[in-house]
Amino acid sequence: TLEVVGATRRFGAVTALAGVDLTVRRGEMLTLLGPSGSGKTTLLKIVAGFETPDEGAVRVDGRDITMAPPAKRDIGMVFQNYALFPHMTVAENVAFPLLMRRIPRAERERRVQETLKLVDLPTHGGRLPRQLSGGQQQRVALARAVVFDPQLLLLDEPFGALDRQLREQMQLEVRRLQQRLELTALFVTHDQEEALVMSDRIAVMGQGQIAQLGTPEEIYRAPSSRFVAGFIGES
Ligand code: ATP
Repeated sequence: TLEVVGATRRFGAVTALAGVDLTVRRGEMLTLLGPSGSGKTTLLKIVAGFETPDEGAVRVDGRDITMAPPAKRDIGMVFQNYALFPHMTVAENVAFPLLMRRIPRAERERRVQETLKLVDLPTHGGRLPRQLSGGQQQRVALARAVVFDPQLLLLDEPFGALDRQLREQMQLEVRRLQQRLELTALFVTHDQEEALVMSDRIAVMGQGQIAQLGTPEEIYRAPSSRFVAGFIGES
């Protein structure tokens, strides 16, 4: 379970986040959906540890991590431009978080192989990232993010660089993996359709606040304001 309590972040005169409260339940995929500048990335960075809030707290499974550096958080991440290490093989990329956690070699190899199988790349461990397609590279990034069985998975516009067909396929694959591993996940997108198909619940953000929080059906059928209706209805 992820809990964000009263998170506020200001950049000079701009209030990027204005006292956000949010709980992501264990095993749930919660999506932050909102227009550019609504505070989605700032909230995700606070959870990841790349930003600290001016006020408020972040807790994962009851532990306060508000001030913990990113490496001390048990969080897997997939970002659009969170690149693989180009000089390392696929298997070395996926093994990296296990190496950082001092997992012994035999178990490392076992987990890497198991995870590469999960993302449907069982025989690709010896290749270099540039020898893979865009979708395959994104699957390796996903494998690297989940191989250490993190308490939380963060996904920030992970499909932005992919074409439409691949994007839809990856949406299904990521959702299936998240459900299968029962990962608690926070997903960021500005794409309404993507939010509707990927999420257990959606938090619609506007101006640094959560305008509405609910299941995809609730938000689609009963938007609580003009802002939400306009944002979820268009496209
Ligand atoms: P996008 O979809 O474009 O990524 P977003 O919803 O993720 O947008 P944020 O990136 O969280 O929005 O930005 C929220 C507000 O905070 C914006 O007005 C942005 O300009 C401002 N902001 C974010 N980071 C910084 C920073 N490092 N310095 C100054 N202002 C910032």
